[in-house]
Amino acid sequence: MSDFLSVKEYEAIAKRLSYPTQAFIDGEFTAAASGRTMRSINPATGSVIAELASCGREDVDRAVKIARRTFENGVWSKKHPSERKEIILAFTALLREHLIELAVLESIDSGKPLRACLTGDVPGSIACLEWHAEYADKSYGSISPSGDSAVGMIVKEPAGVVACVLPWNFPLLMMAWKLGPALSEGNSVIIKPASATSLTALKLAELAAEAGIPEGALAVLPGPGPEVGEALGLHPDVDVLSFTGSTEVGRKFLEYSARSNLKRIVLELGGKSPFVILDDITDFAYVAQQAVSAAFWNMGENCTQNSRIIVPEKSKDAFTEAFLAELSTWKTGNPLDPANSLGALVNKTQYDTVLNYIEKGKAEGAQVLTGGQPLHIGQGLFIEPTVFGEVTSTQTIAREEIFGPVTSIMAVSSNEEAIALANDTNYGLQATLFTNNLALAHRCAKALRAGTISVNVYCEGDDSTPFGGYKQSGFGGKDKGRESHSQYVETKTIFMNIEN
Ligand code: NAD
Repeated sequence: MSDFLSVKEYEAIAKRLSYPTQAFIDGEFTAAASGRTMRSINPATGSVIAELASCGREDVDRAVKIARRTFENGVWSKKHPSERKEIILAFTALLREHLIELAVLESIDSGKPLRACLTGDVPGSIACLEWHAEYADKSYGSISPSGDSAVGMIVKEPAGVVACVLPWNFPLLMMAWKLGPALSEGNSVIIKPASATSLTALKLAELAAEAGIPEGALAVLPGPGPEVGEALGLHPDVDVLSFTGSTEVGRKFLEYSARSNLKRIVLELGGKSPFVILDDITDFAYVAQQAVSAAFWNMGENCTQNSRIIVPEKSKDAFTEAFLAELSTWKTGNPLDPANSLGALVNKTQYDTVLNYIEKGKAEGAQVLTGGQPLHIGQGLFIEPTVFGEVTSTQTIAREEIFGPVTSIMAVSSNEEAIALANDTNYGLQATLFTNNLALAHRCAKALRAGTISVNVYCEGDDSTPFGGYKQSGFGGKDKGRESHSQYVETKTIFMNIEN
């Protein structure tokens, strides 16, 4: 606890925060063309934090025109890669100076526990941007095996104008996953943050400008998804649209692309990830700690939330006891209090959705092992962390993404049944596997149909590993690691005759 300030000190920082509230276009903060605004609300208190510019089609047109002009004039796209690297590193140095301020801003805007913002979201976003900055001058093209009469050069070029449409659950981190590789490759980038959580994206734009990222290379357009997101998706001069959000909205982007210029679409979507415990596991203390984190990190508002804990029938009671004991150490309440591991849900819509799923779970016969109710703390949107037992694969809570602090324990009678149940979903983003048997770990990791399999730990890999879903969890590319760069470049073949 000693690494943290007191809740009073964080509340004082929250009162003193300064951040832009207008759209960021052409290196300036500006009102929406329509003059419209929207409110940003702190979900832990119900209070209005800010009135933000609410952009629309006109703002999208202007931002795309400027992004294209910037791309063509080369102030960013044609800079030497090492210069781009240095400027992005100057940007991340500024972010580090503002780490606490950014963490507090993220927390009050989203309801996330400050503790996680200080130790995960903000430092993780900075590290991600640094990783991709460093990659800028370390990526090579290649030469084809085309014989002695020709030289076939395979080169990568920045794609052009990149639009990124983001979710509200990890506002800064999801921005970093896309902005890092897109900027490092020399693209002009337009960010559309989620309407509920736009403040840190705007603060980042301010710091990016201060660090020397040229005007026009980065724009941030807060505003409603069906207007700003759709206008970016349909725009004939956007080359790449990288989306993270729900599968339902993700599908729309494929339509937008088909109806417009066939822009490249990359989708990072929802999940219903399993936490699989194989039958050789007998000690549950560490497993339970990982399972609680997998289910309740970020209040379960997490695309890789492990919302289906699959456990051998013979171990169900021992695991459940250890799991509930670990969960009892996770306190819910004021997100600015570093003693709390769980904060508020992001907004009333999500709060109602989660409570509806809890009621559905009860109605369909699942047993509430703990939680199951809203928590009345002031005007905040808090829900008790909820664990269901006696869950079967046909129940709604085992099939649909809930995106809240709710998980299910499902018992199986063999390892084969565990893997089959884990794969019994339309999603395939991530799976966690626990076993002490090395051969079984390899075999099961191969058998699980998901983009990331974490063995004997719950995680999403690190900055060097690609992240994205199988099945309806993803489409068209990956975030993170070297692979993420292929979203944001074109591959060109230059084929030279050298015979005569
Ligand atoms: P969402 O799909 O509701 O919104 C995502 C973005 O799309 C927002 O910026 C929103 O304004 C915009 N949008 C909404 N309607 C639109 C429309 N008609 N046209 C264009 N844009 C539109 O998702 P959310 O609720 O913000 O985020 C939660 C979802 O994100 C969950 O399903 C979660 O699993 C997923 N997610 C996935 C990953 C991943 O990497 N796979 C990471 C985080 C979150």
